[in-house]
Amino acid sequence: MAEHAAIGTWGNISALDEEGYVYITPSGMEYDKLLPEDIIKMDKDGNIIEGNRRPSTETALHLALYKSRKDCHAIVHTHPIYSTAFSAMGEDIPLFLDTAVQKLGDTIRTADHAMPGSVELADNCVKALGERSRACLLQSHGAVCIGSDPDDAFLVSETLEYTAQIYSLIRSMGGNFIPMKTSDISSMQEFAAKHYGQQAER
Ligand code: 13P
Ligand code: ZN
Repeated sequence: MAEHAAIGTWGNISALDEEGYVYITPSGMEYDKLLPEDIIKMDKDGNIIEGNRRPSTETALHLALYKSRKDCHAIVHTHPIYSTAFSAMGEDIPLFLDTAVQKLGDTIRTADHAMPGSVELADNCVKALGERSRACLLQSHGAVCIGSDPDDAFLVSETLEYTAQIYSLIRSMGGNFIPMKTSDISSMQEFAAKHYGQQAER
């Protein structure tokens, strides 16, 4: 787990395979000491298939996201400093940077507070994420990011924290961002999805 994102053993990661099985980190274990056998394999209803560890307390949240978002194949839940500051204010983070537009998909909304690990938190998170956003905040708690694979979900997570840090800088300098044109947002998202990098379609 990236240094900016993890405090102690909090936070959790999961991935979905092509057969529909979920692999999730164990609860409360140090990331740098995790071994492959510490990861728990389960079905989408939470029935454990392999592994002897107790799965993450946020398992309900991960499973709810795999069920609600077909584009979600990996999830990274973190407690990063700047994103968590906005979550504690219950504030949304708007799409005002090119990178955020391309990677985060939609305004980053804050899910209403609920107890960590609860089904209510999972429901609030699904609602805050909506249909297009690839990240949301959990009020007074942290961030949840989704991706097409684990690398992608980590990149969404880094992009979110980078955006939150810049938003915080802008606000601490007493300024505000220049809103992005809706037409620029759609063009950049189309470019990111179909043309950026070495994708086949040019
Ligand atoms: P786990 O260590 O159980 O995965 O959960 C920590 C956490 O971040 C709860 O929200
Ligand atoms: Zn957490």
